[in-house]
Amino acid sequence: MVKHRGQRYLKLAGLEPLVITPESNFINVGERTNVAGSRRFLRLIKEGEFETALEVARDQVEGGAQILDVNMDDGLIDGKEAMVRFLNLVMAEPDIARIPIMIDSSRWEIIEAGLQVVQGKCVVNSISLKEGEETFLWQARQIRQYGAALIVMAFDEKGQADTLERRIEIASRSYELLTQQAGFPPEDIIFDLNIFPVGTGMDEHRRNAVDFIEATRWVRQNLPHCSVSGGVSNVSFSFRGNTRVREAMHSAFLYHAIQAGMNMGIVNPTLLEVYDDIPKTLLTYVEDVLLDRRDDATERLLEYAETVQGEHKKREKDESWRELPLQDRITRALVKGVDQYIEADVEEARKTFDRTLEVIEGPLMKGMNVVGDLFGSGKMFLPQVVKSARVMKKAVAYLTPFIEEEKRSGEAGGPAGKILMATVKGDVHDIGKNIVSVVLACNNYEIVDLGVMVPPEKIIQTAREEAVDIIGLSGLITPSLDEMVFLAREMQRQDFEIPLLIGGATTSKAHTAVKIDPGYKAAVVHVNDASRAVTVVGDLLQKERREAYKKSIKLDYESFREKFLARGREKAYLSLSEARANKLSLEWDSGAIGVPRMLGVQETGQVDLRKLVPYIDWSPFFRAWDLHGKYPEILEDKVVGSQARELYADARKMLRDLIRKNQLAAKGVFGLFKANAIEDDIQIETPEGEAYFFRTLRQQSVKRDGIPNLALSDFIAPQDSGQQDYMGCFCVTAGIGVAQLADALKDSLDDYGSIMVKALADRLAEAFAEYLHREVRMKYWGYAPEEQLDNQALIKESYRGVRPAPGYPACPDHLEKETIWEVLQVEKRIGVSLTESLAMWPAASVSGYYFGHPKARYFGLGKIKRDQLEDYARRKKIPLSEAEKWLRPNLAEES
Ligand code: SAH
Repeated sequence: MVKHRGQRYLKLAGLEPLVITPESNFINVGERTNVAGSRRFLRLIKEGEFETALEVARDQVEGGAQILDVNMDDGLIDGKEAMVRFLNLVMAEPDIARIPIMIDSSRWEIIEAGLQVVQGKCVVNSISLKEGEETFLWQARQIRQYGAALIVMAFDEKGQADTLERRIEIASRSYELLTQQAGFPPEDIIFDLNIFPVGTGMDEHRRNAVDFIEATRWVRQNLPHCSVSGGVSNVSFSFRGNTRVREAMHSAFLYHAIQAGMNMGIVNPTLLEVYDDIPKTLLTYVEDVLLDRRDDATERLLEYAETVQGEHKKREKDESWRELPLQDRITRALVKGVDQYIEADVEEARKTFDRTLEVIEGPLMKGMNVVGDLFGSGKMFLPQVVKSARVMKKAVAYLTPFIEEEKRSGEAGGPAGKILMATVKGDVHDIGKNIVSVVLACNNYEIVDLGVMVPPEKIIQTAREEAVDIIGLSGLITPSLDEMVFLAREMQRQDFEIPLLIGGATTSKAHTAVKIDPGYKAAVVHVNDASRAVTVVGDLLQKERREAYKKSIKLDYESFREKFLARGREKAYLSLSEARANKLSLEWDSGAIGVPRMLGVQETGQVDLRKLVPYIDWSPFFRAWDLHGKYPEILEDKVVGSQARELYADARKMLRDLIRKNQLAAKGVFGLFKANAIEDDIQIETPEGEAYFFRTLRQQSVKRDGIPNLALSDFIAPQDSGQQDYMGCFCVTAGIGVAQLADALKDSLDDYGSIMVKALADRLAEAFAEYLHREVRMKYWGYAPEEQLDNQALIKESYRGVRPAPGYPACPDHLEKETIWEVLQVEKRIGVSLTESLAMWPAASVSGYYFGHPKARYFGLGKIKRDQLEDYARRKKIPLSEAEKWLRPNLAEES
């Protein structure tokens, strides 16, 4: 941030800044949060399902969108209300609000309403000269006052610009008005120069793409500091239905438009081919059309399109690369992850150097740098990098004895730095940590991996003994957040100066900035993806950069923290009794209560994994490997599709092997019980007459009229209703045997396989939960005996009832797991234990409750007040400090 001060760059901001410099890559605007562009989003907004609509936004951010376009222009929606409500929700989600917002509307009142609630520096989309200069200038001045950037549509009193001349005319006139009369900074102006379809068969459309591209070039050269944007998929509109051609068209169009200076736009990443991968003939025909190079271009492309429709690229086994020079062979082996010849190749290399170490520092690092560049520029994806690492490891292992030998007789160089990696005390999850370790190791860092459940003393002691340069902490469950805070403070107390990296699913920049950073004087950086880890570690360790970097990180977190805390204070909460008065009251007729066919605890015995495979939800598997998209569409995705197919094939193969060799075992236990709610508690009774309590927590944030403050106990008939109700709980694991297998693979230098086993076991555990839940609904509880849902429908949770899991948003208190363990005798029956942070071990395990009411649903508890914490401690008969320890992340900060 600091280094851009004073420069005329477009600077936008959500919670984090987005500075668009000439070096920036193309900025991708996410547009699924647009009622005109997404039917699903429209439906959700119409039905008032704003919380679910938020997920659409989250998907966009996770999918790599750098700006979020929000549009509520629809005749059946109160656009202004919807914009305000949605943006307010977005602002409360740090992982979404991280990126800047684009307020998209053709109605000024909606734009203005949006401007009034959005934080950071947003973009208005859009204004134009359509209604004349006066309106244009007035709106621009307003936008300027709100401190936003703006998009100008190439539109004026006469209509939309559809030629090169008209685009230039409108753009330069708008620019002059904005900069001269409205005092608008030129870097805050973005032109949308209208992308129109080509290949329509109409002569007047032939130059649509060329004119856009040329206008872009003109604007970027003649109107200093401004940006150019557009909606790309429009260009291929007349080829709808032919994905292959459309993908090629989008990529080729972008290739030329970006060269001409288009620096942002709306691109559907699933409809994009890698430019270099477009077959030459197709590319020629497509570019003939885009660039208007031949009279018969459209006919030729149409004809050709028929032959390529639905065709799949075939992959032949090509061994000709073995003829290449040595360095090229080594690089290729690393890039492609082929380990077959690597030992022979490094042996050949070894003979050409004086010292063996030079093979690593020379040819191997050169190859890994290519991997790093491809990964950094988005041309290569995580699974492939981990495979590259396997090749690298194998090469290094081969060379090590020679290096050891030479060391004895002389000196040797070292790695770029030493990094300690650990999953904190009480936590067992390490897939993400292992991936980051592998990626860092590929970049020549030495990794000291302490594994999972590592106590703070051990981390500190090892950091000392090994003189590490950086410590990386990982954790997936909420209690791990506190562990990290504790460790940072402890390091401060012992005067450490080693930078801390923070990562893992529940960690966030907000938590890092607000809770960890203030306790430690040295650098603390939140890093949640493997590709960024490499850059951050580089910045932290490079002699020339590190002091400046550490300072800028400290400043960044400090200002983030201030903003974050200021925002938190504004939220309003009810007292616990007020929240209870606004509980959800359901009907308790026979339709709502299903009497279980059998009550009590049952074990599933060892379940055949083959039964579970069809229930696997594959999308999270790809996410674990940093490939974002929905299965099965992701397999056809033109950016990550081929990597996804390869990963999927590897996964399937390993799954077959695991099953055939009986290497994993899965077991489950569940129980169904009589239940009634007493205030926010649920009392259950076993067939043996023992009573247990599940304590639930109630939402306390102020709701709009008619919206209840929920607790899970609302889904169970209250005792004073006189109705006997029921509920269940369960635990399943598919992790028996995983640790041994993963360790063995790791020992044989196969990190890829080791991570894969864990990722698959996680999937099988979730599939088991899905399978068992279905069995319960159809057979054991039996309230849905006729249910017929395919796996897609199961993944979408289209069935009656829910299975909330302690530690998740509706019931974030992990402590309730102890009750489940007691009621079901989980550890004794299936061998799943709870760590001191109440993580389940083996890690590939899932537990939760069963609720059967048709209206039961998932929700987020949100923050609670101290009065509820005290009440909870009383109900559970535990000291307040103990309750606070488990619920701290859910406590609304008291000012
Ligand atoms: N198909 C996914 C399901 C995992 S997430 C997969 O294979 O990974 C869904 C599970 O998380 C639910 O079944 C439930 O147990 C839990 N869950 C999700 N949202 C929750 C919430 N708001 N409160 C409590 N539990 C929730």
